[in-house]
Amino acid sequence: MDFNGYEDDERVIERKRILSDGDEKTLRPVTFDEYHGQKKVKENLKIFIDGAKSRGESLDHVLLYGPPGLGKTTLAGIIAAEMGVALHITTGPSIEKAGDLAALLTNLNENEVLFIDEIHRLNKSVEEVLYPAMEDFCLDIMIGKGPSARSVRLDLPHFTLVGATTRAGMISAPMRDRFGMIHRLELYGTPDLMDILRRDAEILGIKISEEGLENIASRSRGTPRIAIRLLKRMRDYATYLKKDIIDKEVSDFGLKALDIDEIGLDTIDKRVLMTIADVFKGGPVGLETLAATTGEDPVTIEDVYEPFLLQNGFLQKTPRGRMLTVRAYEHLRLPVPAELQNRNKAAFENLTIESYANNGD
Ligand code: ADP
Repeated sequence: MDFNGYEDDERVIERKRILSDGDEKTLRPVTFDEYHGQKKVKENLKIFIDGAKSRGESLDHVLLYGPPGLGKTTLAGIIAAEMGVALHITTGPSIEKAGDLAALLTNLNENEVLFIDEIHRLNKSVEEVLYPAMEDFCLDIMIGKGPSARSVRLDLPHFTLVGATTRAGMISAPMRDRFGMIHRLELYGTPDLMDILRRDAEILGIKISEEGLENIASRSRGTPRIAIRLLKRMRDYATYLKKDIIDKEVSDFGLKALDIDEIGLDTIDKRVLMTIADVFKGGPVGLETLAATTGEDPVTIEDVYEPFLLQNGFLQKTPRGRMLTVRAYEHLRLPVPAELQNRNKAAFENLTIESYANNGD
């Protein structure tokens, strides 16, 4: 990964930023109206922004969590724009020392927004400086060393911290408690992704039919960043096929060429599922073991592949590890093991007995 956070490998379905996303900035919506989907999050934020603005105060700190590419950075920009203030962007791992954070905070103006991506990766000593800054808008700085050292309290402007993380579970409790709002971003449905793509195609001057839009949207794992990336690739396939529009034929051709199947799984998803089926007889298998066997990074499996596979019912997380579902076997066109069928049958029977019991209450 380079210093901009871009991945050097160019996997199309990758949710993290890669080089070909370079012009993402021009596509980034700057108002709530241009930001499609995430209705509940938007509604809440609008109410709180209006409230803060009418009181002339800074907005309460916001924590956004969800898989990469769902629009957390974009939302931070919209919050700043709606508040009419500047946005400052940084990442957890790039703030190495308490002094780095102090420099960032003292550079802020009243009501401005500080966006910290991957906030779960802040180190402890930096976190401790952040707590009083978030709560009381002040910095405690040590001056001098040894017995003559003394602590000086420095007032900070009232600012809004927007923290983003792929892992809400990895944020420490004291940190979580200091956010006034915690919002989880959901994977997008096809209609919302179609709206996003329609807007982006217009900005990029790409002609695309409704069928083309639907084809790409439904195979983008619910993730705008992937949808936009696929749109750009389909433009190249249209040129290759000597067409001036991305229609069903172009998108079918392109998605097939990229090995993306009818629901958006690519070769690596299939490798993960096939490994659990073949090597681990359907699971349960632990994350580390699965990562080692597939040659993928455990964090990538957990952040990038799993959310979609879980949401679509291909994987199940149990206390003993990840397990394949009947749906996964069917999608991979593999025979469903008898044991899994029996387990499902038993679960179904238990459910029926239980629901009868509940009905009797
Ligand atoms: P994250 O910070 O969660 O990784 P980003 O905010 O960088 O995601 O979004 C990735 C890309 O997807 C950006 O180019 C952005 O323009 C686009 N995008 C994300 N969410 C939306 C949305 N709700 N509406 C329109 N475009 C979106």
